[in-house]
Amino acid sequence: MKTSKNEQDYLKAIYSLKNENNGSVSINAIAQKLSVSSPSATEMIKRLAKKELVIHKPYYGVSLTDLGNHEARFILKSHRVWETFLFEKVGYTMEEVHDEAENLEHASSPRLIESLYVLMGYPATDPHGSEIPTESFWLKNEVELTLDEAQVEQTYHVTLIEEEGKNFFKKLEISLPHLIKVIDILEDKSIIIKEDRESSIVIPPFLQDKIHLMHRR
Ligand SMILES: [Zn+2]
Repeated sequence: MKTSKNEQDYLKAIYSLKNENNGSVSINAIAQKLSVSSPSATEMIKRLAKKELVIHKPYYGVSLTDLGNHEARFILKSHRVWETFLFEKVGYTMEEVHDEAENLEHASSPRLIESLYVLMGYPATDPHGSEIPTESFWLKNEVELTLDEAQVEQTYHVTLIEEEGKNFFKKLEISLPHLIKVIDILEDKSIIIKEDRESSIVIPPFLQDKIHLMHRR
């Protein structure tokens, strides 16, 4: 999914406020953090909610979805990897790295960031001492697909289940699967999946593109 620089700044702001407050954050706090008006913050939050990056509950405030959290952590990693790179490899001073990284963080693909991260030997912190997320946002030889493209006998990591799919599992009172094996594909295109030690589940065709997977070749 493509997010704009502005959207990414909001996700980053919500992520850092959330960590300070331990949970959801108010629109006012977000507006203050980004020096924008409350109405324009409200409008952007609506947009992010539509993209399933945040959840906005009246009186509760704004919180990040798994997808929003993932995106925010990538931007954070991008920023800190760039600061480290500029400081260690390019000769920028500590005072100069932040502004440059603010721009570069939005312009970099996961592939570029993970490549720089590996090139520098997996640095634990940026030059300011802030922790760099160790999780990888791009891996060589990994392919992303949805369940309808999966193959029998293969094992897949479930990376994301869209709302419709989540409701399906909720109705069946089954917890969301993480690592699945495709057992069989039936004549009507239903797919039987199984998670380790759990019983198998039949996923109907209309839900299969709502279940996002990662597969290592
Ligand atoms: Zn910085």
